[in-house]
Amino acid sequence: MLRDTLGRPIRDLRISVTDRCNFRCTYCMPYEVYDWVERGEILSFEEIARLTRIFAALGAEKARLTGGEPLLRRGLHKLVRMLIDIQGIKDVSLTTNGALLAEQMPDLAAAGLRRINVSLDTLNAAKFRQITQKGDLQPVLEGLRAAREADLDSIKINTVIIRGFNDDEIPDLAAFARDNGFHLRLIEYMDVGNASGWTLEKLVSKKEMLEWVRSRFPLREIGRADGRAPAVDYEYLDGRGKIGIIGSVTEPFCSTCDRARLTPDGKLVTCLFSNEGVDLKSPLRGGSPDEQISAAIHTAWTARKDRYSDERWASLKNGAGYDPAARRKIEMIRLGG
Ligand code: SAM
Ligand code: SF4
Ligand code: SF4
Repeated sequence: MLRDTLGRPIRDLRISVTDRCNFRCTYCMPYEVYDWVERGEILSFEEIARLTRIFAALGAEKARLTGGEPLLRRGLHKLVRMLIDIQGIKDVSLTTNGALLAEQMPDLAAAGLRRINVSLDTLNAAKFRQITQKGDLQPVLEGLRAAREADLDSIKINTVIIRGFNDDEIPDLAAFARDNGFHLRLIEYMDVGNASGWTLEKLVSKKEMLEWVRSRFPLREIGRADGRAPAVDYEYLDGRGKIGIIGSVTEPFCSTCDRARLTPDGKLVTCLFSNEGVDLKSPLRGGSPDEQISAAIHTAWTARKDRYSDERWASLKNGAGYDPAARRKIEMIRLGG
């Protein structure tokens, strides 16, 4: 099996199907005007499916559609179906801001989608507008309801916690998720891209988040799914569900990171904090056979040394200081969260 320099395989392919978004979350892509990928450069569904087939042959078992906002790609359910049909891909999932989910959920479910992650950082409509700059809370809640009605196997809520913005809402968000049968995942704020506005002061650690949850609901740690998932899961002692906490900064998980990322314009990126990717679109459109594209992925992955979050934490932990602007990074809307 294909392994990088630290022995990590490719298991999980994150596909950013577009860098466009109908929100402007302050922690991700706050700019109205940006250097968007040109339309003609964006991969077609057929091109994405072909690359996914090649990744699957190299070990990828999971494909997650993300962005930008993936539901802005018209007919995304068709891509879902195409990916489900690929041999070796056991799991196809979607990460969305939920704004367009209610109208698309029936098609997505009919195409075979069984797992979805919806991002939701607050239950307060005014704060929702403040953090997304453009979004409305109500359609997202309707999207979540539509997902519940579609009877999926898994509906997770992704919540980025920012000090002074929504840390005090953690118990209410946990209650909302428990009451509705959603699996809440609290995520430490990361210094993704160059526009995320991250500072150490805004970071709420996994340990603090756990204290917030415990202030209302007693919990017991279960651990990481498969022993290597980013989230550490906890179960409520009253038996009413689970909650996950992702310590992206204070408990980094680079040693088990098996994620490859594909940008909308067909670049393979080996880390969320990379500044460059390997161009797969040119060979794809230039008529190269699968073997040649596979060889390019092989070369990039066997050279992979990324462990950005481990290094950042080592620096923060020993008080050496850390400047997120010291390194240019590809924006998260291109990498897919
Ligand atoms: N637009 C979709 C959405 O918001 O779910 C998919 C793409 S978004 C980049 C994927 C995930 O990345 C979201 O759950 C979002 O909250 C998370 N994310 C974005 N910026 C982040 C940051 N600075 N720190 C932690 N997570 C972040
Ligand atoms: Fe858009 Fe998702 Fe980024 Fe928010 S987190 S700006 S919804 S891509
Ligand atoms: Fe993976 Fe890079 Fe994140 Fe480490 S910093 S977990 S290598 S994406």
